[in-house]
This record gives sequence, C-alpha cells and structure tokens, in this order.
Amino acid sequence: MNNRPFSSQTSIIHSHGIDGKTGAVSTPVHHTTTFHQQDFDKYGPYDYTRSGNPTRQTLEEIIAELEGGIKGFAFASGMAAISTSFLLLSSGDHVVVSEEVYGGTYRMITEVLTKFGIEYSFVNMQDLNEVACAIKSNTKVIYMETPSNPLLNITDIEGVVKLAKANHCLTFLDNTFMTPLLQRPLCLGVDVVLHSATKFLAGHSDVLAGLAVTGNEEIARKLTFLQNSFGAVLGVQDCWLLLRGLKTLHVRLKESSESAYKIARFLESRNEVEEVFYPGLRSHLGHEIQVRQAEGPGAVLSFRLRSEEDVRQFIKTVKIPVFAVSLGAVESILSYPCRMSHSSMPKKEREKRGITDGLLRLSVGLENTEDLINDIEQGLLKIKSNSQKDVINL
Ligand SMILES: *Cc1c(COP(=O)(O)O)cnc(C)c1O
Repeated sequence: MNNRPFSSQTSIIHSHGIDGKTGAVSTPVHHTTTFHQQDFDKYGPYDYTRSGNPTRQTLEEIIAELEGGIKGFAFASGMAAISTSFLLLSSGDHVVVSEEVYGGTYRMITEVLTKFGIEYSFVNMQDLNEVACAIKSNTKVIYMETPSNPLLNITDIEGVVKLAKANHCLTFLDNTFMTPLLQRPLCLGVDVVLHSATKFLAGHSDVLAGLAVTGNEEIARKLTFLQNSFGAVLGVQDCWLLLRGLKTLHVRLKESSESAYKIARFLESRNEVEEVFYPGLRSHLGHEIQVRQAEGPGAVLSFRLRSEEDVRQFIKTVKIPVFAVSLGAVESILSYPCRMSHSSMPKKEREKRGITDGLLRLSVGLENTEDLINDIEQGLLKIKSNSQKDVINL
C-alpha cells in the first residue's frame, strides 16, 4: 500500500469525493436551508444552511486540504472572508498592515474597523525593520499580501511570522495572487490564509467568492462562530461553480504562468517599456525570496509605459485582453491601476508607491501566447509611431 499523500494536482480532482448515496461524481448541490431532525435530543450533522451545508462543506474541506490547514470557510466574497476574519479583533487592538494591501481591505481597515476602536499602521512589508518598529503592545495581527498589487512586491513571509511570534501577534495573509498551488503560507507559520476565490480559484470571471483557512484549533473554533454569527456565507450554487473551477486550477495556473513569463521577457526587451514587474524575472527585487517561499511567480505582471498618452494608445490598439478590473481568469485582463483599483488614492500617495500614470497591470489568461505577444507588440508599435510623429512635428 502506498501511503504517500497525493500531490495537490491529484487531490484537487479527487477530494470532491463520490456521493455515497448515488455515486454522482460531481458534488451534489444541496439546495436546502433546513434539515429534518430525527429527534430533539440529538441533532444530525446539519441543521440550518448558514451554520453548515454539505455542498459548502465539500468546498471548505478541499481548500483546507490544499492550504495544509485544519478548517476552511467559504464566504460570499473575498471581502466577506477578510472582514469576518478581522472580527477576531476587539476594540483597543492594533493591526500592522502592508501599505500595498488590496483597496477593499484598505477601506475596511481605515473606514470600518476604526469605528470599532481598532487601530492600524501601514508599513512597507518588504522592510522587516519597518514591520518590527510598527509593532506596539496592543498589536494583535500582522496582515500580509504577497505578491502585492499592482507592483508584485514580495514580503518575506517567514521573516514576518518570526516577528509576530516573538510579539505574540497573529499573522493573516491574502494568498489570492498565488493560490495554494504556488504558495502555502500556513506551512510557513501563518495563522489565517485568505482568498478572493473570485480570481484564480474560480477562474472564469463568473463567481464572487471568498475563502479563509487556518491550521489552529482555537482560531478555527472562533472563525466557525464568527462565520455563523456574521452570516456572509457562500451560496450553494456558487460553491459548486467554485468546486468546478478548482478542478482545472492546476493546468490553468501552469499555462498562464508560463505565458506570463514569456510576456514579461518580451516586455523587458522593448524600449517603449520603462520597467517590468514580475517576480519570475531575475531583475525583480523580491525574486530570490519568491523562489525560496513559493513554487512559482504566478500569472500577474505589471509594466510601466512612459505616459498616460502612451497607455491610451496601447489600450486602444490591443485586441485580446479585456480592459477591466479583476484578474485570474481564462481571459487575459488588462487594467489601469491609477484609474481603477487605486483611483481613490491621491496622486502624490500613488506616485510615492510607484503607481504612476504609465503603469498597466496584466493578468495573463489562457489565450495562445504568440497571439498575446503579437497583440501587445502591435500596441507598443502604435506608441512608437505616434511618438515619432511628435518628433517630426517638432
Ligand atoms: C479581489 C481581491 C480581493 C477582494 O475579493 P472580492 O472577492 O472581490 O471581495 C481581496 N484581495 C485581493 C488580493 C484581491 O485581488
């Protein structure tokens, strides 16, 4: 008997289990809110769908297994997962947060948690000294997001975990950009892993979902209580869509990452492009840490053109990527951070963080790589011909 555990690639397909009653290979969608009880002395495993549903439980067990945790939780969105996890905090507590955190998380921390007396400090998480200096006697959580959005900056996860443990704080990590196939933060000592499953995990731009996983019994008990109390659970139909998306995560991520690497190399070779940000490039600041702590660089990259006008030409010319917010889908998605995800940030703050008017983010999908590169090349050539015209006009 072979007792070796299966790789994630295998378990992601087979952990769904086969329905004991019917033999159905696809997880049944239990469209029920309540469950008949045999008697009032002893309840069955389910009573009401907010507290537990077999379809949702299948999903929660799979994400827990993939992340190497003991319990998973499915929520109505990534923000619902993140916000519910913040309810582990109490009035008077303090959180240290990466300054490049997702916009919705930034809003939750600065405009909602503050109403409940929870304080925060934003730090540059690439600098462990800054993290150490921000920790106060009431710091309860250090919140990471790596790679960060949109510049793909890398945080040394084990470095932060070490500081947190020394100061008796918990660590949360938003693993949306990596997925558990590329990065398993719980194995590096993180307490709670969070996902916008809307992105790579579901993968088809058709379902909004969030997940949380922990490897700690006490946190698992508290999150079970909070998930049921706050009630932002994922509906069963969406659980099924996410289970379906997960089955192909491995091939989607592999293909998109390989494409992303080729595109990043191509962009690096072009003089219309000032800078390329992708953890798979040796030139990337966090490359070495990324190689140490993750299985790959992922499928999101960003690059800097010279000006807003260059961006305008480029976007008007490229035909394949959809021009939109979001990421992690079968279709490539091109977004313009300074007018999309970071539009509410004052220009000065944005530029301080490197989010200039020339910066574009590309989430690479499953289109043919050559097609994508040719399309991008057309966009860049258009910039060139226009800037040459400017020169002639002068
Ligand atoms: C999209 C996103 C979120 C928020 O998730 P929703 O599913 O949109 O609520 C959180 N973190 C990151 C890194 C994201 O990309």
